Amino acid sequence: MVDSHAHIQMFDDVDDVIQRAFESGIKYILCVGLNPDDSKNVLDIAYRFDDVFAAVGIHPLFVENFSDRDIRLIEDLARDPKVVAIGETGLDFFKGKNEEKQIDFFRLHIHISKILRKPLVVHTRGFTESEKIKGKIKKDVDRIEFSLYSETIDFKNFTLSAFDVAVACIYSDYDDRIPRGVFHCFSWGERELRIARAIGFFVSFSGMITFSKKLKLVVEKTPFDILLTETDSPFLSPRRGERNEPANAKLVIDELAKIKNMNYNKIGEIVADNFRKLFLSS
Ligand SMILES: [Zn+2]
Repeated sequence: MVDSHAHIQMFDDVDDVIQRAFESGIKYILCVGLNPDDSKNVLDIAYRFDDVFAAVGIHPLFVENFSDRDIRLIEDLARDPKVVAIGETGLDFFKGKNEEKQIDFFRLHIHISKILRKPLVVHTRGFTESEKIKGKIKKDVDRIEFSLYSETIDFKNFTLSAFDVAVACIYSDYDDRIPRGVFHCFSWGERELRIARAIGFFVSFSGMITFSKKLKLVVEKTPFDILLTETDSPFLSPRRGERNEPANAKLVIDELAKIKNMNYNKIGEIVADNFRKLFLSS
C-alpha cells in the first residue's frame, strides 16, 4: 500500500501520523511540498524516515507569491537524492486566478523534471475561458502528432480543461522523450485516462472514489499498470468531519479492491510496485 500524495508537513504530530501509517500497512509515502519553504520542510521529514520521500515544487494556487528565483530554489532542492519527484505543480483553473503565470510555472517545473530526470506530480482542476490561452495552446496542439489527444480536443468549446492544457505543456516540451509523472487526485473521465496512459503517466486516486459514482466508473476502466493511491491529506477526508491522514490510504485500497473485485493485498502490491517504478527506479 502507498500514499503517493500527502502533505504531512501540515500536521503538528508528524511522527505519530507517520507511525500510524506504517502500522496500518502503508509501505511508502510521498510527502509533497507546496512552495520553497514548505518543500524544505518536506525534505527534512523525508530524511528522518527511510520510506518517506519528498516532492518539491510550487503549487499552482500559490504562484502569485513567487518569482523565477524561487524556481531556482526548487531546482536546487530537487537535486537532493531524497527528492524523487517535482511538484506539486500543474494548473488550477477552478478559481480562475493567475492562469498564465500558472502555465509559465508549470513549464518551468517540466523543465526541471526533464533535466533531473525526476517525474512530475501534476495537479489539474477546472476549466479556462481565456481566449489568449486557447490561442497559445492551439499552436502547441497543431504540432502534436498524437491523434487520441489532438483530434478529440474541442476548441470550439467555450472552455478548455486544465487537463488538456497540461498535456499540451507536457507534450510541447517533448524532444527526445516526454517527462514522466502522475496526475494526482485524478477526477477526469475515460478520454483523459487513455491520454494519460498513452503519454506514460500514472493516475492516482484519492478517497473521493469512496463516494463519487462517476469516479468509480473511471476506476473500473483504469489499467493496473498506471494505478496509484493517495490521500492528499490533510485535505479531502473520505469520512466527513474526520481528519484525513496517510493511514487512510487503506480506505482507498479497500474501495479499489471492491471496484476491481480483487484481493486487497494484491492491489496493495500493485500500487507499491507502481510507486517503485515511477519514483524509485531512475
Ligand atoms: Zn496536494
